[in-house]
Amino acid sequence: MIVVMKPSITKEELDAVVGRIKSMGYQPHVLYGVERKVVACIGDERGKARLQALETMAGVETVMPILRPYKLASVITHPARSVVKVKADVKNGLAVAVGGKKFIIIAGPCSVESEEQIVETAKAVKKAGAHMLRGGAYKPRTSPYAFQGMEEEGLKLLALAREETGLPVVTEVMNPSDVPLVAKWADVLQVGARNIQNFALLKAVGKIHKPVLLKRGMMSTIEEFLMSAEYILSEGNPNVILCERGIRTFEKATRNTLDLSAVPVLQMETHLPVIVDPSHATGHWQLVEPMSRAAVAAGADGIMVEVHPHPEEAWSDGAQSLKPETFRQLVKDLKPFVTAMKKTM
Ligand code: PEP
Ligand code: MN
Repeated sequence: MIVVMKPSITKEELDAVVGRIKSMGYQPHVLYGVERKVVACIGDERGKARLQALETMAGVETVMPILRPYKLASVITHPARSVVKVKADVKNGLAVAVGGKKFIIIAGPCSVESEEQIVETAKAVKKAGAHMLRGGAYKPRTSPYAFQGMEEEGLKLLALAREETGLPVVTEVMNPSDVPLVAKWADVLQVGARNIQNFALLKAVGKIHKPVLLKRGMMSTIEEFLMSAEYILSEGNPNVILCERGIRTFEKATRNTLDLSAVPVLQMETHLPVIVDPSHATGHWQLVEPMSRAAVAAGADGIMVEVHPHPEEAWSDGAQSLKPETFRQLVKDLKPFVTAMKKTM
């Protein structure tokens, strides 16, 4: 922390601040500038936030952290990029590495609706080149009257689709008490945008070792996003994949505003892999392909796309879901962009 003094600070006020810093257990180092004085506080990183209260003392202008509040997520403490390994928990299941040279495509319906729907989708997206299957069994819906998901039955259908295709499955968990059950069936546990600051849930998924796909909240700053990742890492689970899925702005033409600059910003700040969800970001199937291309160009490690065999009949998010043939074309069209970014598919 550094404490920046007002130009008008008196000697007595400076002495009082220095004394207070010492009494809080930190070593003050006064730096004398031309216009103002600054005091650097040296000591244990933990608890340094308490120093912020010095802003209430006479002569103090502001108190600023000099280090990032996230430690385990930071590139400073972990300069090598993390590669999160995922393995489909089934005989001959496929293994996928997120964050390496390979651009990863996760595809599947918003919600698991039936055996036929999820198995048909899984086979179609695998044939088109997807590396993982998504599908919600527990759905975070704005309305309590909307379809809430098939719950455990949906998890079993995802496992069946995995058996048929070998694709690892990604599915959302909303409640800390459901973590053991979801971890039993899924290969990657998703924490959705609405739960990014459900700290009990973050701690619960931090205690398991299966990879976690953490989606940015529609109202989260990048710093808050990384602090949520820090919760998972600090519980001992290093397998975190970040997902930019759009933030809420004043714009109404799209469901959210895809913050693509978050991709390079995150890559400067953290070693964790970063993927993009162009489906929830835009809300319209026609925008999924252009924003997928943009995600590749921005340097993302992968994308997650909603695909439904009959989007017009989907129980949730039909408007933003691609038909299998449109998805197949998307994968084809992405190839030259992935190659241009020196990655493979
Ligand atoms: C989802 O991926 O199914 C979902 C609900 O997305 P988000 O949490 O980003 O809204
Ligand atoms: Mn959805």
